[in-house]
Amino acid sequence: MDKESKILSRGAKCIRCKKQAEVPLPSHHANFCFSCFEFFFRNQVSRGLKKMGVNPHAPLMIAVSGGKDSLALWKVLEDLGYRTRGIHLDLGLGKFSRSSLEAIEGFARDRGLKWSSYSLQQEFGYTLTEIDSILKSKTCALCGRIKRGLLNRLTIREGYRILVTGHHLDDEAGRLLGNLVGNRQEYVRTQTPFLPSPHPRVPARLKPLYRVDVSEIRAYNRITGIRPVQDGCPLSKGATSHYFKAAMDLLEKKMPGTKRNFLFSYLRKNKRNTSDDTFGSCLSCAEPAYGSLCALCSLKNRIREKSGQAGRLLPTG
Ligand code: AMP
Ligand code: ZN
Repeated sequence: MDKESKILSRGAKCIRCKKQAEVPLPSHHANFCFSCFEFFFRNQVSRGLKKMGVNPHAPLMIAVSGGKDSLALWKVLEDLGYRTRGIHLDLGLGKFSRSSLEAIEGFARDRGLKWSSYSLQQEFGYTLTEIDSILKSKTCALCGRIKRGLLNRLTIREGYRILVTGHHLDDEAGRLLGNLVGNRQEYVRTQTPFLPSPHPRVPARLKPLYRVDVSEIRAYNRITGIRPVQDGCPLSKGATSHYFKAAMDLLEKKMPGTKRNFLFSYLRKNKRNTSDDTFGSCLSCAEPAYGSLCALCSLKNRIREKSGQAGRLLPTG
């Protein structure tokens, strides 16, 4: 018997089919049996995609880390009938990266799914371990920025127009709280589970799991037999995002439904279906950029400077 079943009393009924309930969902004031829970989970994702206006025939590139979120995302999108392909960025984090690759390999092989893997070392010139040892701070935030920039480029290179990530309700509610607490209005204003393509060479980005939380993803994986990588990222320990998620967890525990209400009420009031980003081209690598250098070239400069390496990337214009 798993953790969820233990806290459901014998005789608790599935809200949908009235058989024995196995999965409690306090935030929905509901309990489900396994198969109705799977239906509920799929339905949450398809509702989210409908709200985003995603064409059901559009091919989707799935950013897969090998963790519980992206593998659940890949399965549910396949089950909903989307045409998908996985993309993985090997960050060069030793055992963690090797186990992540193995988890993806096993998942994709069992289901006959197609995917590509790229190495950060090859695409960017440094592994994340090297970046961490040179810059020594804010590695999580930098990693997020690198993944965003590189996965955007690789998606377009592979001929796809939509990149999908496994960010979920806890990620989005925690992020919103963090940005409000830090009064980062520009990020608050642009937070959305659907970011349309702002430039022909930048894909649209979707977060179809924004309506489900971590415990729902864990239950989905257990029920459907998904085996994600078990280790956590060795560099994520001091990330501030953990504190905001923990704060949301505390509120959720005392007042079930808080996370959903917090995020959804914000999203309802801040409907954003166009992008106001203005792009030019990076003067060093010619990829789309806000300023004279793209985020990746600027970061490379910081790394070179800090490590005393010659060859700063300068705008050529
Ligand atoms: P994280 O920022 O690690 O919480 O990851 C959020 C989402 O980004 C995941 O659910 C994946 O969709 C994507 N992602 C994270 N790491 C990778 C990676 N190494 N390669 C491809 N996608 C990734
Ligand atoms: Zn550049």
